[in-house]
Amino acid sequence: MEVDKMDENDWKYHGEGNKSLVVCHVQFPRVLRLLKYPAADSENPPQTAEQAFRQIQNMVDFSSKVMSNLLGDKFIHSGEVVKLPLEFVRQLSIKIQQQRPAWRCDKVMDIYSGCALCLPNLTSPALHQATLTPPLCIEIKPKCGFLPSPKHVSKDIKARVCRYCMHQHFKVAGGKWKRRSLYCPLDLFSGNQQRMTFAVRHLLEEPQNNFKVFKGGQCVYSCKESSDDPPDVNALLHHLRPYFQGNNRSSSHMTNKAILNDFIQVLVNALLSGRGDEGAVTDRQEEGRSFCEASLFNRERVSHASRGLPADSVLFRILQTQMLDTLDIEGLFPLYRRVEQHLQDFPKERSRLQVDGPYNEAFLEKVQKCRMEDDGSVESAVAKVHQYCVAMTAKDCSIMVVLLPREEEEEDEGLSPLRRLRDFRPSPFSSSVSILDLDPKPFDSIPRQLRLDQKIVSCYLRTGGALP
Ligand code: ATP
Ligand code: MG
Ligand code: ZN
Ligand code: MG
Repeated sequence: MEVDKMDENDWKYHGEGNKSLVVCHVQFPRVLRLLKYPAADSENPPQTAEQAFRQIQNMVDFSSKVMSNLLGDKFIHSGEVVKLPLEFVRQLSIKIQQQRPAWRCDKVMDIYSGCALCLPNLTSPALHQATLTPPLCIEIKPKCGFLPSPKHVSKDIKARVCRYCMHQHFKVAGGKWKRRSLYCPLDLFSGNQQRMTFAVRHLLEEPQNNFKVFKGGQCVYSCKESSDDPPDVNALLHHLRPYFQGNNRSSSHMTNKAILNDFIQVLVNALLSGRGDEGAVTDRQEEGRSFCEASLFNRERVSHASRGLPADSVLFRILQTQMLDTLDIEGLFPLYRRVEQHLQDFPKERSRLQVDGPYNEAFLEKVQKCRMEDDGSVESAVAKVHQYCVAMTAKDCSIMVVLLPREEEEEDEGLSPLRRLRDFRPSPFSSSVSILDLDPKPFDSIPRQLRLDQKIVSCYLRTGGALP
């Protein structure tokens, strides 16, 4: 990419989250991820260009040196920081403004620093030829897949109902969403086909910001903005039909239901793919921490015992990293306070303790090593805080599953024996999986986490917990 020849007409709006806005190149499989600021600060940016550059470099380092070790580098694309001409960024921000959903416009795109993160476009990988069927890509933001240990929580509901399900009540009560999603992450992370299918079905029904489908790099299914209506599943089916109907005469009358079923099965299989043996996330299973009481999945329906997630699967790696949060926010908070107190007394210790990075091998070592008991030192408290923050990143990341339709002649080849066993017929897709949105969570966000946790739990006990 030649940054001195940037033309805003080569880029278009692609999507955004709470922290960043993403534009994609119209021709090459590249995206630019730009920072966002609260709209109230739009006149005076909250940080200098150097600080913005540093922040994005920190994101790259955190992803490439820390998260990729924990999650598996085959899933991770960390990208690189680029410096863009300010005129290009300004024109770009004007161009994309009208495509932005209104509910995201409480923040504005950073047009001052000229810094951005350049990444491969994971929704349209490789330059697929226009003549071939474009890839389908599914983005899932799975959220936290386990219950905290009862040892560390003050309200026993937290050990029975998962955070996502409680948070749904809070969001509907606060007006963020009109309807509650019935998706439960514990079902998705169960490794059990039936439970996973059930979870994906509910993601599809109420996608909120946890589920999107792209076709040839274009978003064709996501939550409907500011609408009381549920999203248009028929429109999605219209896009999916050609992929699942195939040339096979016998399947040309496939019902909508059958197409949706096939789509969900292919997706679940892609999420379970991985060469490895069945995993050993036993700690969670044994303590009964893998079933959420709010999930509508009927436990009796599990026809065979859960075999857990394959050790090499994307869900297994994400779950293991999430489980670095061993203390829950309640158990962690006193350790946070110890570090905070120490930093008040010795501000210069902030850099030695790597509170805001740098994210390097030494940082990773602290995160991995700290399975030990708390010995009362500031070092062990910092390590626990780092672990918690890393787990928070893993609870907030997204999974991108790309499904590439196989060409006719290769349809029977290249299938792993595992895949063959799983669905007893060749999949019409080859799949690849990546993880995105792996930004470090700031140390100072921890008090906010505790307050939010308290609000969510008390709201649930007041409203949702009482419902049948
Ligand atoms: P969040 O609010 O979830 O923290 P965020 O502000 O950190 O989000 P991202 O999730 O990184 O932002 O990006 C916003 C959206 O842009 C993603 O949900 C995804 O749809 C799209 N996106 C991000 N990175 C890529 C990529 N490399 N390729 C394709 N699409 C991408
Ligand atoms: Mg995101
Ligand atoms: Zn749940
Ligand atoms: Mg993010």
